[in-house]
Amino acid sequence: MTAAVEAAEVGYPVVLVEKEPFLGGRVVRSHRYFPKMCPPTCGFEINVRRIRGNPKITVHTLSTVEEVSGEVGAFRARIRKQPRYVTGDVSIDDSVTEQLASERPDEFNMGLQTTKGLYYPHNAAYPPLHVVDKEALSDGDVAVLAEACPPGAIDLDMTEEEFTIDVGAVIVATGWKGYDPGKLPKLGFDRCPDVVTNLMIERFAAPNGPTEGKILRPSNGEAPEKVAFVQCAGSRDENHLPYCSAVCCMASLKQARYIREAYPDAKVTIFYIDIRTLGRLEKFYYELLEDDNISFVKGKVAEVNEDPDTHELILEVEDTVAGERPDSRFDMVVLATGIVPNTADSPIPLELDHDDYGFLNGATGVEGVFAAGCATHPCDVSRTTKESTAAALKAIQCLNRG
Ligand code: SF4
Repeated sequence: MTAAVEAAEVGYPVVLVEKEPFLGGRVVRSHRYFPKMCPPTCGFEINVRRIRGNPKITVHTLSTVEEVSGEVGAFRARIRKQPRYVTGDVSIDDSVTEQLASERPDEFNMGLQTTKGLYYPHNAAYPPLHVVDKEALSDGDVAVLAEACPPGAIDLDMTEEEFTIDVGAVIVATGWKGYDPGKLPKLGFDRCPDVVTNLMIERFAAPNGPTEGKILRPSNGEAPEKVAFVQCAGSRDENHLPYCSAVCCMASLKQARYIREAYPDAKVTIFYIDIRTLGRLEKFYYELLEDDNISFVKGKVAEVNEDPDTHELILEVEDTVAGERPDSRFDMVVLATGIVPNTADSPIPLELDHDDYGFLNGATGVEGVFAAGCATHPCDVSRTTKESTAAALKAIQCLNRG
């Protein structure tokens, strides 16, 4: 979004292609940014306003780039666009949704709850449109939609479209996903309901999340009293992600603060190998060191198991500084899972330079194609936006080289 508005605001037409039904990716799924602890919607809404007010930007949601041919100054991209089944010409009342029987996973909330077959993706969604998941609709739902939706609001006969666009330069800003905690069986994600991931905590803490802003133990819906954060869950491990994911120390510090703000008596322990808080972010860490209810234990958690009698989670870990076993019983465990580029399993249809883990070289090796943000390396939102601005400038420069 940043690259698009930066290029468009100096007069270049931009086509923004997004595979989800809405813009904003991981950012709109976060509860707050570190270090200011402001909601991501602040920066997101500014970008939405810039996009909405700029006729030079065309947004295609539910769309993917299937093929790119040509060269700098004259690329041709083939776009595949899935049907939304909502025309956008007539607004739809939420009461229609409530009449439907169908349930489907809510991808905005990482499948932690469901939506109906007609749904509004989230309260800050852009474009501000409902979506129909036609596969999820029962025959009864189809009848309800025909009866309850205003004429012209929904078109269940829409089909997938394919079209080409001609562009001079390409910016790849495909983002990231969390490392699959199922690949870390010893850490108990698939065995213990109260073992969750850092991405799940963002959704629990968010007022528009599945628990309406309350961080609760999934097993019983109660407030946690003792929470452990397991750092480097998958990262810095030759068997998983050999690199540091760069943001998960700060994410855990931020989430420890969510918990302490919500539950003044809760105790938090962060198990770490190293705490990596670069530059000015160190101040955030020092502030947490002053909190008597937050402990930092240097030690790699080897295993998490649930006590079958008390349902407490027992961590297998050693405090490598004190040389002893720390208190290791908790009622909730947060895995600080690392960053995997989306390009790892959804390659861009171009021969771009990348490393063994799918991160692209920012210069990509193809003239006129640039990459930014977590498509190139693990990084935070602030750095992503700066790189995206730089990518927009490089794209403009290559079009003006003549
Ligand atoms: Fe580990 Fe921290 Fe690096 Fe994340 S940022 S991989 S938790 S050291």
